[in-house]
Order: sequence, then structure tokens, then C-alpha cells
Amino acid sequence: MPSVQADLDHAATTPPRPEVLEVLERWIGAGNASARHLPGQAARRAVEHAREQVAAVLGCSPHDVVFTSGGTEADNLVVKGVAWAAREHPSAGPAHVVTTAVEHAAVLEPARWLAARGDVELDVVAPMTDGRVAIEDVLARVRDGSGGRPRTALVSVMGANNELGSINDIPALGAALREIGVPLHVDAVQCVATLDVSLDRWSADALAVSAHKVGGPQGVGVAVVRRGLALEPTSHGGGQDRGLRSGTFAVGLIAACGEALERAVAERDVLRERLRVLSERLAAGLAAIDGVHRSGPEAPDARLASHVHVMVDGVDAEALALGLDAAGVAASGGSACSSGAASGSHVVEACRLVGAPLRMSLGWTSTEAEVDHAVAVLGELVPRLRDGGDVFGLDVVGRAEGGR
Ligand code: PLP
Repeated sequence: MPSVQADLDHAATTPPRPEVLEVLERWIGAGNASARHLPGQAARRAVEHAREQVAAVLGCSPHDVVFTSGGTEADNLVVKGVAWAAREHPSAGPAHVVTTAVEHAAVLEPARWLAARGDVELDVVAPMTDGRVAIEDVLARVRDGSGGRPRTALVSVMGANNELGSINDIPALGAALREIGVPLHVDAVQCVATLDVSLDRWSADALAVSAHKVGGPQGVGVAVVRRGLALEPTSHGGGQDRGLRSGTFAVGLIAACGEALERAVAERDVLRERLRVLSERLAAGLAAIDGVHRSGPEAPDARLASHVHVMVDGVDAEALALGLDAAGVAASGGSACSSGAASGSHVVEACRLVGAPLRMSLGWTSTEAEVDHAVAVLGELVPRLRDGGDVFGLDVVGRAEGGR
């Protein structure tokens, strides 16, 4: 296996920052934060410090912060928890939930599972071809409870799409929903590294965030749950975090999560500008290759600075993924965190895009050398595959310098 010369898969996971690893190491052996003795109190202070760090960067109160095992658990907690709380109502039939066809599986799967059980009536809004969701299409599905149909219990729309990088107009959606009293959940997992995420500014009621997308460790994240949002817990036990997420606090992971989010937000604007330059360099290089078409919104401020998604004509998606891997380029054909499958992206399908999908995503360690290596590899690989050649023995392999 060649080593990775170009890590262009930061949207799947980004390397942990050294300062965050130091915090993780300091607290990984901490006491039980629910215990009264001194080690327990120290651990509790570390958890509460992380809670304050998270609240300060996500525009919410520390009370709203629920630590989870990651974005997936945060999404599940909100989607299932709100639907089940709505069912508690004396007149309740199934709750009504609105979401979109381009959500991550962490939202779509619990929503579909609830619908299959008869717990919710589900409306799934189709995206525009650029991966964004039209706010008016979402609002058109919202029900006010008239006509004997259940009132909408939750709208769940992602802040930015993990594959195409398309950014939704969450402030406008949040304001419209707040006016009619319908709760909004935003999967903000892909946003935090480069966008200003704020429960308050977005008029949202819940957010999902994950540490390993912003230089933190895998296995920890946050569900922000605004006080007053009715939510049933999905696990029961010792009653930690307002009874919404029982279980011994993972002090090391939580402390590292707080540190990662604080650092990511402190460096966000500088990183965004750096990634904008790098991603435009990457996109320009790819545009020069015949039959490679950039996906997503035209306007730069409607797409994440970290993402470049393209559709490639006339090549097999799996061969493309194999060829990139063989040349030391880590990228994704769809959503790597969903299955590792080389094709079959529900996002690409929902956006009605044709060709072989390729997502390249940049992060805090990305370099020009990595971008240039990827462009050189694709410049050779794409015509070669189109001509029926195999994926090995590319001339450009090993030429990158300074990449990782
Ligand atoms: N939501 C989005 C938009 C994602 O991109 C991901 C992971 O890629 C998740 C949720 C799941 O997060 P986690 O890996 O922390 O469970």
C-alpha cells in the first residue's frame, strides 16, 4: 500500500490537533464526574469547562449542551427524542417530521425507522440540483395541525451537505419556523470548521456537532438541545446531562471535544480563507481535465470552502476510487462515513447528477502540494480509465513533495 500523499478526505475525518491530544491525555484517566470525592470533583470541573467552551462557540447556553458519542448519536437523540415526546401528547397519533433527501444517514435513517414503525408521518423534501434545499419547499410541507392531521413536531435540515458542500439558508428557515412555533434541528457536523454555527442566530432548537470533524477525537460530539424543547431520552440510566443522555461522562473525550471546538472556532476565519484559496486551486486544476464537472452551487459563499465535489464522465466510480487510492490520494466517492461503499450516493441521486462522483475535502493540515498531486493524478487517471486502461503505474505517483 502506498502511503497517503494527499489527504483530501477531511470531511470524513480530520487529524486531531496536538493541543487537543494533550488535553485528551491529561483527562483520559479522570475520576467519575458524578462522584463526590476529590477526583470526581476535578473530573466534573473538566466536563463543565468543556460545556462552557462548547456553549460559547455554538451560541447556546451551557445548559443546552448534551455530550454524545458523536454526530450520529446527537442526530438520533433529537429526531427520535422529539418524535417520541410529541407522541406523549394525549391526542397524539404519529408525529409529523419534515426532513430532506440529502441529509446524512444519521438523520434519514432514524426518521425512516420511526416512519416504518408508525411513530411519525415523514415528509422528505427533494433538493435542488446544486444540493441546497429551497426554504419554501420545506415550509410548504409544514403542517399546522388542522384538518385532523398531526402538527409538525420537527423540521430537520442540515447546515451544509457533507458531500457537495452546499450551504442551506438556515437563518431564514429558522426565523420562519420560529414565527410559527415549529422546532428546527440542524445537523451542523460539516459546518463548524468553516462556518459561524449558532443556535441563537439560526433560531434553531437543536444542533448536532461532532469533534472529529474539527481536530478532535472520534467518538465524541454534542447535541445542543434548547431548554424547553420537549425531548424523550433515547437511553435511560444514571440521568446525566438533564436525563437526556445517561452514562458515565467520558471526561477525556469531552474535555478534548471542548478544546477542539474552541480552537476550531478561534481559527475558523483564517482557515476558511486558506481553504478557499486551496479549493479554488483544486477546482481550477480539475476543470482543465476533459469531462470533469464541478457540482454544487455556483456562488462561492453558498458552498463550504473545504469541499470540491465533481462528477466525472465516462469512468467507473469504483475504478476511479481504486486508482486514486493506488496513487496515494485519499478522497471519497460518496459519503465515506456511511459505509465505505465506492458508489451509490443518495445525495448524488437526489440531486440527479450523472457520472462518477468524487468528493475532495480539505482541512487544517491541507497543503498546496497535496492539491497539486491530486490534480496531477486525476489528469492522468481519468483519460487512462476512459481509454480502458488499468489504474496502476501512473507516472505521477511519488512526485508530491511536502504532502501527507
Ligand atoms: N452528519 C453529517 C453531516 C456528517 O457528515 C457525519 C459524518 O460524516 C455525521 C452526521 C455523523 O457524525 P459522527 O461520525 O460523529 O457520528
